[in-house]
Amino acid sequence: MKVAKIYKIYIDAGHGGSSPGAVGKDGTKEKDLVLERALGIAKGLEKYEGVEVKLSRKTDVTKSLAQRCKEATAWKADLFWSEHTNASSQSSPNGFDTHIAKNAYAKTVELQKVIHKHLAKVWKDAGRADRGYKRNNFYVLVNTPTANAILVENGFITNSTDLSLLKNKQFVQKLIDASVAGIVEWFDLKPKKVNTVPELPKAQPKDTEIYKVKKGENLTVIAKKHKTTLQQLLKLNPQITNPNLIHINQEIYIPIQKKKVIRQHVFVNGKQVGIYGEKDKIEIKKVETWE
Ligand SMILES: [Zn+2]
Repeated sequence: MKVAKIYKIYIDAGHGGSSPGAVGKDGTKEKDLVLERALGIAKGLEKYEGVEVKLSRKTDVTKSLAQRCKEATAWKADLFWSEHTNASSQSSPNGFDTHIAKNAYAKTVELQKVIHKHLAKVWKDAGRADRGYKRNNFYVLVNTPTANAILVENGFITNSTDLSLLKNKQFVQKLIDASVAGIVEWFDLKPKKVNTVPELPKAQPKDTEIYKVKKGENLTVIAKKHKTTLQQLLKLNPQITNPNLIHINQEIYIPIQKKKVIRQHVFVNGKQVGIYGEKDKIEIKKVETWE
């Protein structure tokens, strides 16, 4: 059996704790904006198989750049994603850019192309600037040797329009979705198979009734309870491809149980005058009389 490669993705929410990063006019801190997006990217990646995700921080804690890089490298991260928001001494600069190391791996250059393309769509749709592909030897880009490392600067906290976008839930989600889409495209990730409940076939087999699976039951248990076999249940329910995977409340066909008939012979004066069957003393199946 082929063992699929598990990609390790390290999502670094920039700054944190005693390092607020850039601060907006209204007091908004970069560390909070980037944490929201980093958590969103990690959550978005949960929908895909073949990935493991680690965050540099999940809360507002202080962590040095060296700690982040050591952690990602010891873990052998395949991707190091550093999430930031830019700042300027002037209020006009706006939009986004992406950064990789000056001597980045060829695969990292490809990574930047893909990620940049996805983020550019979101920023351009909002009428903001695409500031381009950048090469910078930022600490996290040159101290993460196992990884293809990228740093994204999403928006300017010092630009009022960017700031309002970065505080807008819908816009933030668009950035998160674009980031996830870029990562998914670059690694060629496949969505996790959703455990859907197979639908009951429209054509009901003869002499069957619909049964709702109860908690803790498997097909073998159900077969035993209804005096049939696992094979018979699978035959009646071709929608079940894995007998070990049935769901609570899933509807399946089960054979109608033959009513148990107890034969009662009726005697009058020692002479048999009748015969009938009954089930649970309720249903009289047949009465026959002699003479
Ligand atoms: Zn930053």
